Amino acid sequence: MDQTMHTPYFIIDEPVLTHYYDMLARSLSENWDNYLIGYSFKTNSLPWLVSYMKKRGAFAEVVSEDEYSLARYMGYGDHEIVYNGPYKGEQSFRAVLQAGGIVNLDSMQEVRWLKDLAADCPQQTFRVGIRANFNLEKMCPGETTMGEVSGRFGFCYETGRFKEALALLRQIPNVAVTGLHLHSSSKSRSVNIFRSIARMACQLQEEFQLQLSYVDLGGGYCGGMEGRPEYPNYFPAIAEELRKCFTPGQTKLIVEPGISMISKCTTFVTSVFDTRDIKGTRYVMTDGSRFNIDPTMIKSSHLFHIQYAGAPSPAADHSAQDPSASGAAQVSTADTAFPLSVRPVMERQIVSGFTCMEVDRIFTHKDQPELIPGDRIIYENVGGYTMSLNPLFIQYFPAVYVRNQDALRLVRQKWTPEEYVQGCCLD
Ligand SMILES: *Cc1c(COP(=O)(O)O)cnc(C)c1O
Repeated sequence: MDQTMHTPYFIIDEPVLTHYYDMLARSLSENWDNYLIGYSFKTNSLPWLVSYMKKRGAFAEVVSEDEYSLARYMGYGDHEIVYNGPYKGEQSFRAVLQAGGIVNLDSMQEVRWLKDLAADCPQQTFRVGIRANFNLEKMCPGETTMGEVSGRFGFCYETGRFKEALALLRQIPNVAVTGLHLHSSSKSRSVNIFRSIARMACQLQEEFQLQLSYVDLGGGYCGGMEGRPEYPNYFPAIAEELRKCFTPGQTKLIVEPGISMISKCTTFVTSVFDTRDIKGTRYVMTDGSRFNIDPTMIKSSHLFHIQYAGAPSPAADHSAQDPSASGAAQVSTADTAFPLSVRPVMERQIVSGFTCMEVDRIFTHKDQPELIPGDRIIYENVGGYTMSLNPLFIQYFPAVYVRNQDALRLVRQKWTPEEYVQGCCLD
C-alpha cells in the first residue's frame, strides 16, 4: 500500500456494501415478497451512501426535519420517505402525509397535527402508522437496551397509551391507521428479538382489529459480525411469525437497516505519529481518534489489523490501497524502516488518539511487536454511528474514499476551514 496517502481516512468497500444490500433484498424477497427497505439516515448519511441507497430503490428513513431536508436535497420525493422519531417538523410531517409517504406517529402532539391536517384537507384520506412501545424485555430477558425500565419512544401498550391514541385517531373520519412501527433497540440483536417483535405485531393486530397495509420492524439487525446472525437468519423466523396473522398480499414488511448494512464495508485507516514512555507506560499516538470510531464511548474492543511500516502489504489486504499503486508492484521492502522481525514484543502499549483529551485512548495492545511512527492501524466494521457522530473537534472531518476493485475514489474531501466557516459571520 502507498504510505504517502494522507491518513486518517475512511474507506467504503463498494462490492462489500453491494453484497450486504443484495443479501438483504434477497432474503426479504425469498421470505416476504412484499417489502420495503428504508435506509436509516442517522446511522450514516454520507451523501455518497445516501445516493447509493437511493439508486437501489431504498426509501429514506429519517428522524428529524434536517434529515428529511437532506433526503429532499438528495432527490427523494415526499412519497419516498419513512418519517419516524419523536422530533419531526410539522411542515415536513404534513408534506410526507399528503404525498402518501410513510409516517409513524410517535406522540400525542403528532396526533393533534394529524387531526389539523385532516381537517384542512377533508377530501383526502390519510394513512398513518403508529409506533408501539412495549415490554420487549419481558419477552427477551436481558437482551434489550432499555432493560427493566421502559423505552422512551412511541405509545406504550402496557399503560393503555397506545389504545388511547388509536381511539383518538379512529375518531378522525379521513384518517386510517394502516401501519405499525415496532423498532426496538437491543443489545443482542438476536433472531429471537425479531421473532418477538413480529409476535407483538400479531398481538396488536388481533387485539385492536387493525387492518395493516404495513408492519415496520425498524432496524437493529446484525450484519458482518463473526458468529452473529445475518439477514438470511432473521427473515425466515420473522416471516414464520408474521404469517400467523398477515399475508404478503395484504401487508408490506418494512425494514429500516442501518449498521447491519454498512458496518462491514467500512474501514478507518490511521497512522502512528509518535510514541512516548511515561512512568513505565508506552503511549502510541495516532492520527485517528476514539471520536472517529467510537464517538459514544461504548466500545470495549475493536476489530483492527496493522500494517507495519516497512513490511510488505499482505496480498489479501486491499483495504488501504492507493489507486496509484494498483497494477504496480508494492513498494515496501523489509528494510525501509524497522522490520517486524527485529521489533521487540512489548507487554503493554496504549494506542491513543490525536485529541488533547485523556479519555481518547482507543485500546491497549498487549504482548505485541513495538509500534512505531509510520505503522498503520486499520479499524474494521466502522460504518455505522461513526461518520454521522464525528465531532468537529480539534481536527475536521476526515476524508472518505470508496473502493472498487483496486481503485479508490474520493467521495468526501477532508474538511478544511472553508467548510468550517461556511455560513458564519466573521465580525
Ligand atoms: C436507529 C434506527 C434504525 C437503524 O438502527 P440500526 O441499529 O442502525 O440498524 C432504524 N429505525 C429507527 C426508528 C431507528 O431509530
